[in-house]
Amino acid sequence: MKAVQYRTVGGPPEVVEVPTPEPGPGQVLLKVTAAGLCHSDLAVMSWPEEVFPYPLPLALGHEGVGTVAALGSGATGVAVGDEVAVYGPWGCGRCRKCAAGTENYCPHAAGLGILPPGLGSPGALAEYMVVDSPRHLVPLNGLDPVQAAPLTDAGLTPYHAVKKSLPKLVPGSTAVVIGVGGLGHLAVQLLRALTPARVVALDVSKEKLELASSVGAHETLLSDDGAADAIRELTGGNGAEVVLDFVAVPATLAVASASVASDGDVTVVGIGGGTLAVGFGGGLPFGVSASAPYWGSRVELVEVVELARQGLVVSHVETFSLDEAPLAYERLHAGEIGGRAVVLPHG
Ligand code: NAD
Ligand code: ZN
Repeated sequence: MKAVQYRTVGGPPEVVEVPTPEPGPGQVLLKVTAAGLCHSDLAVMSWPEEVFPYPLPLALGHEGVGTVAALGSGATGVAVGDEVAVYGPWGCGRCRKCAAGTENYCPHAAGLGILPPGLGSPGALAEYMVVDSPRHLVPLNGLDPVQAAPLTDAGLTPYHAVKKSLPKLVPGSTAVVIGVGGLGHLAVQLLRALTPARVVALDVSKEKLELASSVGAHETLLSDDGAADAIRELTGGNGAEVVLDFVAVPATLAVASASVASDGDVTVVGIGGGTLAVGFGGGLPFGVSASAPYWGSRVELVEVVELARQGLVVSHVETFSLDEAPLAYERLHAGEIGGRAVVLPHG
């Protein structure tokens, strides 16, 4: 079968021919119908040799949707032909966090060598992929696979982030979304679907701000030196109750710090390398909570899929063939993808 692999540190992603995998005991083989490309993949491909954490070659893709093609011995709960989305942050399945469905915070996974598909284990940018357990499959219940693929990370991650801040997103509150790409354009919609907050979207690109307006942002602002003052002005001097930073370079975190309200939340989702100082004298208003959440829980993926089935969130996608995946990554790197790039391995 064909797969898109990252083969050498610093090299480009390549389309290669590899053996079609077979599901081991308890595992499930999926025929991949759609796979999303995440900015995190670009981050992975920028890491230097000294710190590169995964074995190579690595089939990329941590946003996968597929049709069950075969079950390994002892695997139950799904049937050949079922259409499913892959829950990516695989945990050990036995600890307290995993029991609660928050496998994204399993403290044992890394130590046990359990790595997410596309981020250590062979990923979804392939004609077929193996999923380690039926537990990690969420039924699509009729949702279009192309729509569904971005939900597994670009939807799930902001859903998890927004849910944490729901008590602060009361009528009259403001939420700021910095970076309206794959995650951000879904974050805007999730805020609109789940809260009465006024949504202010920031980006460096006019096209992305147009996308933000079209998916429900009340206000859009260019992400520059004047952005924090503009947010303070829009909020009568209070600042925003919640700021979600999907970029997280020093410049955007400075905007977040300067525009969040007292007792608000700054949620750092982007892995742009910036950090925030928490503590008196650190620059944040009193009472602000800062956090850096990772992906989301299993039940949250079920919930995001349900929101999409109800039409309350819609993934904006540009589709590519498997052969075009390297080009799609180039376009993502250049900031030229509106919404999410989704690869269709079987056309
Ligand atoms: P993307 O490339 O689709 O979108 C990024 C957006 O940010 C683009 O619209 C771009 O124009 C905009 N942008 C760039 N610089 C900006 C600036 N200075 N101010 C405002 N906007 C700016 O990326 P994505 O796939 O949506 O991922 C977003 C970030 O989230 C990445 O850093 C990614 O690695 C990270 N991520 C984190 C998690 C997690 O679990 N925490 C999960 C998935 C992705
Ligand atoms: Zn991702």
